[in-house]
Amino acid sequence: MKVGVARETAAGERRVALVPEVLGKLTAAGLEVLVETGAGAGSAIPDSAFGEAGARVVPIAQLYTDSDVILRVQKPSASEVNLLRSGQAVIGFLTPLIDPQLAATLAARGVTAISLDALPRTLSRAQTMDALSSQANVGGYKAVLIAANAYGRYFPLLTTAAGTARPANVLILGIGVAGLQAIGTARRLGAVVKAYDVRSETKEQAESLGATFIVLTSVADASGEGGYARQLTPEEQAAQQAELNGHIATMDVVITTAQVPGRRPPVLVTAAAVAGMKPGSVIVDMAASTLGGNVELSKVGETVVTDNGVTIIAPDNLPATMPAGASAFYARNISALLLQFVKDGAMTYDFDEEITAATVISHGGQVVQAATRKLLEPAPAAGGAAS
Ligand code: NAD
Repeated sequence: MKVGVARETAAGERRVALVPEVLGKLTAAGLEVLVETGAGAGSAIPDSAFGEAGARVVPIAQLYTDSDVILRVQKPSASEVNLLRSGQAVIGFLTPLIDPQLAATLAARGVTAISLDALPRTLSRAQTMDALSSQANVGGYKAVLIAANAYGRYFPLLTTAAGTARPANVLILGIGVAGLQAIGTARRLGAVVKAYDVRSETKEQAESLGATFIVLTSVADASGEGGYARQLTPEEQAAQQAELNGHIATMDVVITTAQVPGRRPPVLVTAAAVAGMKPGSVIVDMAASTLGGNVELSKVGETVVTDNGVTIIAPDNLPATMPAGASAFYARNISALLLQFVKDGAMTYDFDEEITAATVISHGGQVVQAATRKLLEPAPAAGGAAS
């Protein structure tokens, strides 16, 4: 069976789905690895390094013709979709809940689409495959470095002959995978760190990394399913924002990471909160995307400086800004998921098995994953009888 590694073509994407270090695992399982010319360039991995690790470097046309499975980071572009053929599988962050139409197109072409972002993350045997976590980890780390770089003062307490610099006060909002890494990184840089999450179980995790957990009296625990948060009601959200404002005003740096699966990220830092911050303060909105962000004034992919001198940074695709490190983790995740499907040298699909049922989005000409299929159902006709 031949596994092809695509060169990423999305704007700003510098990661690559496989790195030479993991090739041994795949070849040991009897797989032949093809790598598209230049696939590792963005991560400073020359074609020769893939060749030395046992892969064959091939032009794009041959990659798509010869491979049984294509590995990638981001979803294929329209022209790459046209290169995929019936019976082939593609594995990557295919975001079927955001782009169900892609799943339908792949199904129509007879392509088996397997999406890493659909992995059931709470299964312990899926942990090595959890690319959402590995990439969120990179993001949390990079967000702190970006904040430190934009902040015009020291993060640590410094006592020097020229005077004493007080440590930066850093607030992390959202204590999932990215938030925990952000706490750890900010602490290692010497900042005084506070953190808040709507899931009360995160208190102990934040404290174990040296942060002070902020308890809000206006919002009860909002743990949802699968370890995620549930969406707050509009009343809860307003109360949360109002109570957070007082904390935010005392901070030098705020890093936001809060997400609710399948929903617009909650606004945690309002324009009023930003207006209350000191000039020179920095906010990094890690949750920002085209869906919105955690910071009312953030603009995805841009840096905004407010009239009161607060810098609001909303980076797009942080993992791609640390491509070699992010790719090394991603490569382990995607190869673990791939090997889960390989039996006797071929891709096999057992839909009674949880990881297969969750991650295989299209197969045999159909969109098979229930959540994606639901999104593709025609909306009920307006004015239809209510039941
Ligand atoms: P995420 O990206 O969905 O969200 C980040 C954080 O934002 C979460 O901690 C969430 O509680 C928080 N949040 C959402 N709404 C909020 C609000 N209004 N105010 C404040 N905070 C809010 O989360 P994630 O990093 O993907 O992790 C989600 C969960 O999955 C965590 O419990 C994590 O431990 C768990 N997880 C478990 C495993 C495993 O069991 N192997 C692996 C990975 C993640």
